[in-house]
Amino acid sequence: MENKTLIFDAHLDLAMNALEWNRDLRWPVEEIRKSEEGMTDKPDRAKGTVSLPAMREGHIGVCVATQIGRYVKRGNNLPGWKSPQQAWAQTQGQLAWYKAMEEAGEMVQIRTCNDLERHLRLWENPLGNAPVGYILSLEGADSIISMRHLEQSYNYGLRAIGPAHYGPGTYAHGTDSTGGLGIKGRELIKEIERLGIILDATHLCDESFRETMDLYHGPVWASHNNCRVFVPHNRQFSDEQITELINRDAVIGIALDAWMMVPDWIRGKSDPKSMDVTLKQMINNIDHICQLAGNSLHAGIGSDLDGAFGKEQCPYDLETIADLQKVPDLLYEIGYTQSDIQNIMSGNWIRFLKNNLGNQL
Ligand SMILES: [Zn+2]
Repeated sequence: MENKTLIFDAHLDLAMNALEWNRDLRWPVEEIRKSEEGMTDKPDRAKGTVSLPAMREGHIGVCVATQIGRYVKRGNNLPGWKSPQQAWAQTQGQLAWYKAMEEAGEMVQIRTCNDLERHLRLWENPLGNAPVGYILSLEGADSIISMRHLEQSYNYGLRAIGPAHYGPGTYAHGTDSTGGLGIKGRELIKEIERLGIILDATHLCDESFRETMDLYHGPVWASHNNCRVFVPHNRQFSDEQITELINRDAVIGIALDAWMMVPDWIRGKSDPKSMDVTLKQMINNIDHICQLAGNSLHAGIGSDLDGAFGKEQCPYDLETIADLQKVPDLLYEIGYTQSDIQNIMSGNWIRFLKNNLGNQL
């Protein structure tokens, strides 16, 4: 299978898998699964789909990789750390894992346009063990103790940030909560803009999305966010929100979490086969964004694979992340041209980064 398309996946929680799931992502997926047989501490044990070898196999040569640490206030039932300081420490451990993967030659951090161009040249003809490139992102900003910590994060390479995750956060309201930014959120947004960090609109509730768009003038994308027209839920974008993002030259990554792909999914009960969850829904979401845009310049992949769910909650025609290589053919089948397909599989994210990364360290 030569002539694989380069794929850019804009949302992978790699370090979270390494540190909270205790997965050595240098192993093949099959071995990671085998090592987890019989474990019941998490619903996706022995069902993971992501590893660095699988990414290489699928030519997923570049990704946005996250740090993630949620802080939950007393009385809140969401899983998370009891203080922002603990959440910060968690993200610093995750950073240390990415650095260790760089030292091992497995990954390489992309901070500047030059880094990106060098890495893309490497992947034009990748050797079997080519490092996977990553742009560092923070999913949910609760671990940012103060604006000094945000600047420190930029200095170690943070290039994208989502102000919120699930529930009410320190800076913004996320999925399944309602409310705006508040004083702290406004301060954060302004600092994101000053530093030139990409703002990730994913997970913002409608009100926080509205206020963020009004306040922020810097580059915005949505790394992993599907369309509300298919699954009516506040986690998904309305057509109006998608159109606004398109008008701001954003790229929107389509995710493969089953509950965001088909309506009425019940976590822990529904099954991908009986609910007919396949890569087809990813294609429908991509196509919807392209139809709203009138072109193929704003849709991409942000799979979120192994973002705390595995094969039990993702398309059943995908065994590992390498099967993202099926997406180009599926797009071709519904009439997308080779250049459209290239835009969607990697070109849009790459263009966005070339426009917005700069060459400052
Ligand atoms: Zn997410």
